[in-house]
Amino acid sequence: MPPTAVFLDRDGTIIEDVNYLARPEQVRLIPGAADAVRRLNARGVPVVVVTNQAGVARGMFPEERVGEVHAHLSKLLAEHGAMINGYYYCPHHATEGVGAYRIECACRKPAPGMLLAAARDLNIDLTRAWMVGDKVDDARAGAAAGCRTILVRTGHGKNLPETLSAAEWRLAAVVPDLAAAVDLILAAGDSPSVTSVS
Ligand SMILES: [Mg+2]
Ligand SMILES: [Zn+2]
Repeated sequence: MPPTAVFLDRDGTIIEDVNYLARPEQVRLIPGAADAVRRLNARGVPVVVVTNQAGVARGMFPEERVGEVHAHLSKLLAEHGAMINGYYYCPHHATEGVGAYRIECACRKPAPGMLLAAARDLNIDLTRAWMVGDKVDDARAGAAAGCRTILVRTGHGKNLPETLSAAEWRLAAVVPDLAAAVDLILAAGDSPSVTSVS
């Protein structure tokens, strides 16, 4: 049986990491990423984006811009026959920023709030889902939600070998990019979760 869902970090995993990406025209797909999403779509696996967007809290761009960026990303993916089933973002920051956005929230990764919300909305069994990202906080969020986790060496993941502790290496499989992550996910089939938060 295929996995119940694949959660994807956005910046550095699907699209090139631009610090505080704020405009649709800055969106650039990472090579192979759209085809990887399309392969999950073809198997009927829901693909859900979960992204920290503290640029909103920091006042760098308005919250509406996040939706515009995601609409543009969906348009680029559609050109490759690929689609995202849900977008979840965290606009908050605990210590930086302005107004209501400056809160200790339950959704900013490494907290699992966005994954838990998507699981409720889309009826996802998290123990048979995966989280893929380019930062250790992505793996921590996935593990905290009960998912299996993969780190990619694109985006911030280019620096992973220097920065991962031994415990962090045990948290997630490490692969070159999203295409390789999808290879691993589809090859793993339905075997039970083995990762744990450490
Ligand atoms: Mg990222
Ligand atoms: Zn949040």
